[in-house]
Amino acid sequence: MRLDKFLCKSTELIKEEAIQCIHAGEVLVNGEVAQNEAMQVHENNVISLNGATLKTRDFRYILLNKPAETVCSNIDEVYPSLFHYLEVEKVSELHIAGRLDADTTGLVLITDDGRWSFNITSPQKACCKVYRVGLSRALTTDKANEITEKFAKGLQLQGEETLTLPAKLEIISPKEVLLTITEGRFHQVKRMFARVGNRVVSLHREQIGAVCLDVDVGQWRYLTKEEILSFG
Ligand code: URA
Repeated sequence: MRLDKFLCKSTELIKEEAIQCIHAGEVLVNGEVAQNEAMQVHENNVISLNGATLKTRDFRYILLNKPAETVCSNIDEVYPSLFHYLEVEKVSELHIAGRLDADTTGLVLITDDGRWSFNITSPQKACCKVYRVGLSRALTTDKANEITEKFAKGLQLQGEETLTLPAKLEIISPKEVLLTITEGRFHQVKRMFARVGNRVVSLHREQIGAVCLDVDVGQWRYLTKEEILSFG
């Protein structure tokens, strides 16, 4: 693989930063300064950055079905951390790509690959997240049409400078809807429904991008190669 790619795989550097390090003479391949980012390197080359020998890391990509009353944090807060459900090593190196509130359930993606999770969480990447939402007030047909239109146009949430990005609403029943959004603002779904005079009583994430929730509550699995690459 190319030297700049090796650096990205073995550190937290992004490509531009890796190239800068290479051009600055900070990278040695088998003891020699390597200043060509396109140089081909192999696992058996000894590659170092500022004196520290690098190893390629195998990143981990995990799907978990979050139970209610757990927190998307590496430490226990009011509720226990979601990470207690994972029987894997070096849990402290993992983070969640798109946190859920303590009372929200469903699909959570967990990884130690920061560049991959950026593709899921950055609004610019427009990765769809689908939520099944239970509402306190039944929607009439007129109200359903009105909020479908408002969500599609974008809402001004309290304290926010920009409108929410277009969101898709699908009515399942008067008190149950599916909402698809491409951002993850603080308490976004709850605040969107509050803005149109309703209240979320249950919230469950069913899908992120092409990945659908398919394990029981509290269970987890590794993503398939195809699923990992779908966020490329
Ligand atoms: N929107 C919310 O309000 N809460 C969540 O947990 C996720 C999205």
